[in-house]
Amino acid sequence: MKNVYLDYSATTPVKEQVVNEMIPYFTEYFGNPSSLYTPGLEAKEGLITARNRVAELINSRPEEIYFTSCGTESDNWVLEAVAEALENKGNHIITSKIEHHAILHTCQHLEKFGFEVTYLDVDSEGFVRPEELESAIKDTTILVSIMMVNNEIGTIQPIKELAKIAHNQGILFHTDAVQAIGNMPVDVKDLDVDFMSMSAHKIYGPKGVGALYKRRGIQIPSFIHGGAQEKKKRAGTENTAGIVGFGKASELARMNLHSHMNHSSKIRNMMWERIEKEIPDIILNGPKDFSKRHPGNLNIAISYIEGESVLLMLDFNGICVSTGSACSSETLGTSHVLNAIGVPVTKANGAIRITVGDNTTEEDVDYVVDNLKQVVAKLRELSPVNGEKGW
Ligand SMILES: *Cc1c(COP(=O)(O)O)cnc(C)c1O
Repeated sequence: MKNVYLDYSATTPVKEQVVNEMIPYFTEYFGNPSSLYTPGLEAKEGLITARNRVAELINSRPEEIYFTSCGTESDNWVLEAVAEALENKGNHIITSKIEHHAILHTCQHLEKFGFEVTYLDVDSEGFVRPEELESAIKDTTILVSIMMVNNEIGTIQPIKELAKIAHNQGILFHTDAVQAIGNMPVDVKDLDVDFMSMSAHKIYGPKGVGALYKRRGIQIPSFIHGGAQEKKKRAGTENTAGIVGFGKASELARMNLHSHMNHSSKIRNMMWERIEKEIPDIILNGPKDFSKRHPGNLNIAISYIEGESVLLMLDFNGICVSTGSACSSETLGTSHVLNAIGVPVTKANGAIRITVGDNTTEEDVDYVVDNLKQVVAKLRELSPVNGEKGW
């Protein structure tokens, strides 16, 4: 049996070169980066290199990068910090209905404290309509937060255009770019965003480390209170090895960006061509124009059967896919993203997400599609809701 991992949007394996750079920071350079003696300074050097590399990936200045414990923390921090900093200016935040739960649940939390949140609708492919953002802005709006690439259906938002609309009204703009970095060119200067969230483990780096880009000159309160780390903005002894790994992963992502994008999209396109041709009654969720879609993403609604059953049966054959997003694997329910793009519940329940990456091969495509065909046929045969019998 082969093992084929097709869930790169949930997490990625750590590259060997990344692991090799991290290891000395557990043993040799174990010092606390805040200490003034040599082992502390060695650790500090590692942080400096990593910050430069992450900054280079997104074309920011190193001093605009703040390391955090994950993409989720970066999302929580920016929303809560802007809410706190600007509460005298207004209490209104605009986001979209298809954001990651790190944004949506933080918004819901802020609503309990008197903030008002507009959750913008998206079109049938997951795009925020710029004119809807424009008309949602009020005098009390203090922040717009729209993700750059959706983690379930791969939609790439027109962030530059959306940020411009916010800035024309003097409103700060944040983007969750966790799925974007390493998968498309990301340039904070060109996009002209004020804040950006990132995570290492989605770009072949380690889990438990992320970053927030904050444009120079904008003042926000800290989220984790304590020592003076990260220019007094994010206390706690740094995850030195993790940050070093994030730096190396960022460097590799920048150097390999085009070959990674070409490889992912080639494999993804091959897989979609076969699936579309060989499996009846399926729908591609998300953008049909693949130039506006994450290069490794497919999200397919398979009629008459449950996505979870497909997932479990593929797992018997060594294939890993997900239903909707990994974050909802413990809350069996319809995906909020598929719901927002208008996929009916009956079809959304049969959705699986396939995300390919650097280690996916052309042979994997054949193995996966052959298996998927069999699994779908078998489940449809057993399904009480098959064809004429109902749905
Ligand atoms: C994975 C993901 C996150 C969360 O990042 P973690 O580092 O796992 O906390 C946030 N937003 C998006 C779009 C993601 O895909």
